[in-house]
Amino acid sequence: MPLTKLRILTDRMTRAERRLSLRTLVAISSLPLFGVVAAFGLAPDTNTLDITPQVITEAIALPAVARPAEPGSFERDTLVQAGDTLARALTRLDIDPLEIQRLLAADAVRQMAASIRAGNRIRATTTHNGELLAIHFDGVDGGALTMRRQADGFTAEAGSDLIESRVVMRSGRILSSLYGATDSAGIPDRIADKMAEVFSTSLDFREDLRRGDTFSVIYTVNYRNGEPVGAGKLIAAEYVNAGKAYRAVLYQDPYGREEYYTPEGESLRKGFLRSPLEFSRVTSSFSNSRKHPVYGFHRAHTGVDFGAPTGTRIKATGDATVAFAGRKGGYGNLVILRHQNGFETYYAHLSGFATGVRPGQAVAQGQVIGYVGATGTATGPHLHYEIRIAGQPQNPMAVKLPGAPPLAAAQRARFLEQTAAWSDRLALLRDTNLAALD
Ligand SMILES: [Zn+2]
Repeated sequence: MPLTKLRILTDRMTRAERRLSLRTLVAISSLPLFGVVAAFGLAPDTNTLDITPQVITEAIALPAVARPAEPGSFERDTLVQAGDTLARALTRLDIDPLEIQRLLAADAVRQMAASIRAGNRIRATTTHNGELLAIHFDGVDGGALTMRRQADGFTAEAGSDLIESRVVMRSGRILSSLYGATDSAGIPDRIADKMAEVFSTSLDFREDLRRGDTFSVIYTVNYRNGEPVGAGKLIAAEYVNAGKAYRAVLYQDPYGREEYYTPEGESLRKGFLRSPLEFSRVTSSFSNSRKHPVYGFHRAHTGVDFGAPTGTRIKATGDATVAFAGRKGGYGNLVILRHQNGFETYYAHLSGFATGVRPGQAVAQGQVIGYVGATGTATGPHLHYEIRIAGQPQNPMAVKLPGAPPLAAAQRARFLEQTAAWSDRLALLRDTNLAALD
């Protein structure tokens, strides 16, 4: 359809009708929409479950009619960022600027814009060649709006999809393997993976697992129009290994960052990633004396080499400030990051630097800082990675790395408000589900 013929139809509801339906939406959204599925003998009980809507709620709205997905359509979505304008968020979805203008001129969209917050999802449905079919906004308090293309324009529909996130609680006992146990408890692999990752700072699931270990997980499953569309988030977990309990709860800080902590507020994030590359192999280890591949004589190798193709993204292994980014002798293109407690990391032979990586700049753990190359003294593309403590090179694969800092005191109240009920739930699961297994 030519853009010039595009017309936004007015919302079909009168203002009074809309108010009424909004009230209905709010009322419905406070009903127990979050189902609870317990693996064993825990009565569904939803009273305390919607305490952290930013964690467990995507949006709740009443379907006017349940609609099947358009055949041959494609979906893209984006989360509204802090400081976003609606136009900017829509631009990220690759929507034609003219269509964005027209959407923003619609009354229904303008009203919706006022209730959209950072973290809300906007979903665009397009044809295979990119023509916009529908756009769906999730607002606060379960408000939702879909602008749907008709033959002669767009129609506005309040809450046309029922998108919800249901909380599921399950427990299990290890008989042979972690995945054997999570499978028989009906826990999605993604949630099992996350549990193993979250506890990996204190437990190695390949080495430490014991027959008889128990676990409980609380997580969300996403539903659209009543159909499960995938595992959501791990909200809380407990793993009891050889009688010792490890617990984790998900916390979202005021900037929207999510991280796992113990119920007491200790961070479960590692202070350092073990490797700056996602997929790589160590091609040369740290050593105090080795035959140098280029110079031929023996000398110390002060870091670890990771073989990877030119252009592979390199991540900062910990939160840091950039101390150096430039060319330096045999290192070639080099980034030096300065971390807390006298730690420094070196990333050498880079083909290039990520934008914004310059001295004085703060970088976050996992942020891309540059790309694998073969600059300086190198026989082929690889990353030379060093960890130094007080200027002394350490073996990156063996050095004891510090954990991430604990929760700031100022966030304590917010943390407890979000997580205390989940910690209580973990205890309840232990007492009911696991007792039922005995
Ligand atoms: Zn090296």
